[in-house]
Amino acid sequence: MEQRRDTVERRPGTTGPGQCRADSPVRPEGGDATDVRRRIPRTDLLLRDPRLSEAVGRLGADVVKAAVRQAQQRARDGRVAPEEVPDTALALLPGTAGGLRPVLNATGVLLHTNLGRAPLSAAARQALAEAAGPTDVELDLATGRRARRGRTALAALRERVSAAGAAHVVNNGAAALVLAATALAAGREIVVSRGEMVEIGDGFRLPDLLVSTGARLREVGTTNRTTAADYADAIGPETGFLLKVHPSNFRITGFTRAAEVAELAGLGVPVVVDIGSGLLAPHPALPEEPDADTQLRAGAALVTASGDKLLGGPQCGLLLGDPDLVRTLARHPLARALRVDKLTLAALEATLTGPPTPTALGLTADPARLRARAERLTGALAADGVDVRAVESAATVGGGGAPGVTLPSAALSLPEPYAVALRTCATPVVGRLEGGRCLLDLRAVPEEDDERLARAIRSVPRREE
Ligand SMILES: *Cc1c(COP(=O)(O)O)cnc(C)c1O
Repeated sequence: MEQRRDTVERRPGTTGPGQCRADSPVRPEGGDATDVRRRIPRTDLLLRDPRLSEAVGRLGADVVKAAVRQAQQRARDGRVAPEEVPDTALALLPGTAGGLRPVLNATGVLLHTNLGRAPLSAAARQALAEAAGPTDVELDLATGRRARRGRTALAALRERVSAAGAAHVVNNGAAALVLAATALAAGREIVVSRGEMVEIGDGFRLPDLLVSTGARLREVGTTNRTTAADYADAIGPETGFLLKVHPSNFRITGFTRAAEVAELAGLGVPVVVDIGSGLLAPHPALPEEPDADTQLRAGAALVTASGDKLLGGPQCGLLLGDPDLVRTLARHPLARALRVDKLTLAALEATLTGPPTPTALGLTADPARLRARAERLTGALAADGVDVRAVESAATVGGGGAPGVTLPSAALSLPEPYAVALRTCATPVVGRLEGGRCLLDLRAVPEEDDERLARAIRSVPRREE
């Protein structure tokens, strides 16, 4: 099988096109020097860029104007494209170097953990900005009284998951499990199948997390087969709950068996289901991926999930289900330590009530459309002398979701050394290495970013030059 590696895993020291530093020369695109000069944005326009005007408030006008002038000069010298002046000015602001930088995700992994999992929708980004100042997060403006924190986001969640009697939001999926284990099983037992004792990634082992709360694990069944009777036999006075965990990043195939939630729901103790990915309802593209509504309808007392996986929202952990249980969790002292900030609540609500998220769009993108985008980009770049071709590609969901599912996709195929050069660009692009080529898969790249992608590729100096 072909080795798939994201270019982030690449070792240094590769030969190839020069690093795309801010000072590497950029060929003016289709125009002479005066044309380039005309396309350099004016200072007053640049200062209206929300990111730069925000910086004026923070750093003062003189500092920001100096960065702007430097960026314009680089464009006049042909060292950056006129379109890159705003980003370049931002990068030149003090305190910016070494900070988090926006990148284009061309890995073909929709939810890339190293790239921050789900990108937020435009609606969620705007909600974040608006919530940054004082908000009515815990105030009822009509009565002037204190109100339940995050009530509108919680209402939006329940609206989307009709089987959920109540909802609570914490910092991430792991925190949701910790809260459930602490509030419902500390000093008691959690019954869990040996086939579901999973490691999520980066050394995060679910059994260790659960034990850290003071709960004891009562392991039942075997790695490949666990029946409802195995759970039933383990239930006793010490049982806090039965836990089902979605093996979200691997698959066991062959001689296997797992108990269904419906079989466990009648055993007299709560069934908690960690679905991981945060699908709220069944998704036609992912028939095997469990969703919150279906699990609750099957009898789960509580479902836990992440907000920044298939839900496409901010990092958070969702707890959905039985109102009494949810109330117990929300009132537990630990809930305060795991609570989310107003920014998360604002972004979550906008994600739930807004148009389809970038993750949802990436999941359902038509392969023919991706192919057409790849061919259009390839045509334009090849005309500029770039060694590029459009190829078929196989994207994945990633981020601990839908293991084994591949999504037909399209990619730009470039010489391998482009991987490092693109990663170190003014707008870093992270692709994937396959068969000795650098592939830029378009499934996780929003269509409106195609031009940014093309600009980044053009900014890589070519060998022949
Ligand atoms: C991702 C995942 C978690 C952890 O969620 P975070 O939001 O990363 O804390 C827990 N369980 C399952 C099944 C997961 O897929």
